[in-house]
Amino acid sequence: MIYPWFESLFQQLGERIRAGQLHHGLLLLGPQGLGKQELAQELAGYLLCQQAQAQRCGQCQSCKLFNAASHPDFYQIQSDKQIGVDDIRQAGTKLSGMAQLSGAKVLIIHQAHTMTESASNALLKTLEEPGQGTYLLLTSNKPERLLATILSRCEKNPPAKTG
Ligand SMILES: [Zn+2]
Repeated sequence: MIYPWFESLFQQLGERIRAGQLHHGLLLLGPQGLGKQELAQELAGYLLCQQAQAQRCGQCQSCKLFNAASHPDFYQIQSDKQIGVDDIRQAGTKLSGMAQLSGAKVLIIHQAHTMTESASNALLKTLEEPGQGTYLLLTSNKPERLLATILSRCEKNPPAKTG
């Protein structure tokens, strides 16, 4: 589900997905409990949907697998404590293969600031050379703990307010 305060952001990102213009590395920011995780999930489902309109269709094979939490091109990494380099390498290996449903491949990294430095460096490789149709969705409520190199390669949403 999308919380009301994320509706317009989701619509904007959805338009860019349909136009094939979504940045391959998205960083979703905001305080804990804002619903970033849910937003990332919805975006992932949308990216994977084979016939998305304003919403994902919910009917296609991809949507059915996603709803059943068994989509073969969808991965998530989450850790309460620390995300290690092995977690990232494992995900990188999966992402480097062909998409099984011939659509997008999506990796969500929840609480991305819990990545160790070597995990972050491993992720940089994927951020620098994402495969065709590969999307990385990172969430964080402590972006100041992310490596500058990660920050600079991700598009931040909501965008930082200026002035
Ligand atoms: Zn669908």
